[in-house]
Amino acid sequence: MTSLGTMAERVGKNGAIAGALAAIVAAAALAFFLAGRGSDAAARSALTVNLPPAASDRIYASAVAAGRPIVVIDAGHGGRDPGATSVSGQVHEKDLTLVLAQALRDELVKRGRVRVAMTRADDRYLTLEDRAAVARRLDAAMFVSIHIDSAANPLARGASVYSLSDVASDAEAERLAAREDDRPAGGPSSGAVDAMLADLAMQSQMGSSADLASRLVAKASGRVELRPNPHRFAAFHVLRRADAPAVLFEAGYLSNADDELLLRNPEERAKMVMALAQAIEADVAAHARH
Ligand code: ZN
Repeated sequence: MTSLGTMAERVGKNGAIAGALAAIVAAAALAFFLAGRGSDAAARSALTVNLPPAASDRIYASAVAAGRPIVVIDAGHGGRDPGATSVSGQVHEKDLTLVLAQALRDELVKRGRVRVAMTRADDRYLTLEDRAAVARRLDAAMFVSIHIDSAANPLARGASVYSLSDVASDAEAERLAAREDDRPAGGPSSGAVDAMLADLAMQSQMGSSADLASRLVAKASGRVELRPNPHRFAAFHVLRRADAPAVLFEAGYLSNADDELLLRNPEERAKMVMALAQAIEADVAAHARH
């Protein structure tokens, strides 16, 4: 707009057609301004310039938990990324993942066996790398990402747990990982993935992630609505980059009316939170014994 304005002034000094030209330039500038206002991309790039660091390293802990292992809880999606929308259209994945994460944090802090960090404690947008970086900076013992699934089949329901793997357990798991990672299914998941997965540290991370997922399924069985074969495997970017045992808990299906009711019910969510808290503590205890 500045350059257009300057051009109008310069033309204005030169003669009789200046008025007409200036009017055309002003109209063009106005159109440019209006188009800019309607563009999300322009609004986003203008907004991201002065924001403080996206993710928080704040640690939540009771006094008795000093020095205990740190568990990072990652509430999926947030801010301009709402995730899945419920079948009723009334709730978004990002809101339910946040209330689940907050309830899990509060339960773990109350029980006092671990310290807790959250990638987000409010409604904000974070990249997957922002999220994983919290676990690396805090040298976390564990990374638990909370999501809620959605499927074309309205009858699909129940919770599942995904652990980090170099090979997806099934086509659906691969599609889910691609969707959460925002990449094409079956395509390369990121840069030097194959080299990383060949790494021994990665093999160990995959093994301990699978242990954590098994404990979670065991604690949830009989208390939480689970899918058939609830422990699945996929190459989630956010899990790989956490550099810690890491699982992605899909708390159910927002595309299923029964699951939506369950997930919107605080008492039902409390059962899920208890299963998660107990599995996390059992995992930490198992590692402490080695
Ligand atoms: Zn999700």
